[in-house]
Amino acid sequence: MDIKEIDKQYIANTYTRFPVQLVKGAGCLVYDEEGKEYIDMGSGIAVNTFGYCDDVWRHAVEAQLGTLQHSSNLYYTEPCAQLAQLICKKTDMKKVFFANSGAEANECAIKAARKYAAEKYGSEYYTIITLKNSFHGRTITTLAATGQEVFHKDFLPLTEGFVYAKANDLEDVARLTKEYKCAAIMFECIQGEGGVLPLSKAFLHGIEKLAAEKDILLIADEVQTGNGRTGKLYAYMNYDIKPDIFTTAKGLGGGLPIGAAVMGEKVKNVFDAGSHGSTFGGNPVCCAGAISILERLDNSFLNSVKEKSSYIIKELQGADGVKSISGMGLMLGVETVKPASDVISICIKNGVLVLKAKDKVRLLPPLNIPMQSLKKAVAIIKYAVALDK
Ligand SMILES: *Cc1c(COP(=O)(O)O)cnc(C)c1O
Repeated sequence: MDIKEIDKQYIANTYTRFPVQLVKGAGCLVYDEEGKEYIDMGSGIAVNTFGYCDDVWRHAVEAQLGTLQHSSNLYYTEPCAQLAQLICKKTDMKKVFFANSGAEANECAIKAARKYAAEKYGSEYYTIITLKNSFHGRTITTLAATGQEVFHKDFLPLTEGFVYAKANDLEDVARLTKEYKCAAIMFECIQGEGGVLPLSKAFLHGIEKLAAEKDILLIADEVQTGNGRTGKLYAYMNYDIKPDIFTTAKGLGGGLPIGAAVMGEKVKNVFDAGSHGSTFGGNPVCCAGAISILERLDNSFLNSVKEKSSYIIKELQGADGVKSISGMGLMLGVETVKPASDVISICIKNGVLVLKAKDKVRLLPPLNIPMQSLKKAVAIIKYAVALDK
């Protein structure tokens, strides 16, 4: 049996896979089992920040792998402490909890918000406002936080205490803060799975002000938008706001599973020993990989992300078959006249991997994709979206 058949027989039916089996990669290039080359414009969903098997990242990971691969959180280890310090220094946040995925990072943020509000105002202050069309993960609680019913059905009852406001509708958020005893407002600056939809500056400034007045915590879900993806280290930095907690995962480890809930002044001491934990959280190998990623996301590198973004937008804006482009940095959604799945199939045939978000073609290339490869990929995408192809 070939791998596709074994997979179909033995892997739970939770994924619709593209008909491609990937075997190895280097930089922005990846190869299937027949040796066909693809330019990867999806980075394993914004995970492979510096592409496949990047040298600096690989050396950092390999060195740690041959030194100490795991220790449990009962002991101190260097990579975990250093990564937390690096994140805090770069963001002016105060403390970090390490988890292993985006959903788990969000679970931690939710627990932190509930504990903060309960201790300060009473245990009835547990409601968290999230936005319609958001995505925060697949655990029962982060599903509850996700403002999309399609993900909820079949799994009820979900964790209680979440209400949904219309994105970019400040009045709607204000109404919910009056109707419910709230602990936090949680949002993605750019709704990723929801279709690459950025929130407006006015809306985010509005909820920041509202939250400050009522001492409701602001939680920015930076799982997809974080770690340089939008041309700033974290997407909230494009908006001049400061969340009390931000969460991140995907691109942080450069391809290894790691998530983080990063806490500011108000919540930095909300947890005490035993109030939260994770066996694998802060794993030294994952942290060593993450340090090698974050250390390189300086201003000049982030500017190169913005330049590549401008190039893609300039090429695709108004191109034949393109209706609109949304997003920021190297997180872009292309609304096409043709169904997105048709565009994706043509791209695959022609050696480019792109993703989907709702009805859009979603682009999340490695942040260090060389201009030459980017040009080649964009030309193929242009060809694929054009109406007569
Ligand atoms: C992917 C994603 C998550 C979930 O992350 P996992 O690592 O799959 O648990 C949560 N929030 C956002 C915004 C995401 O894009």
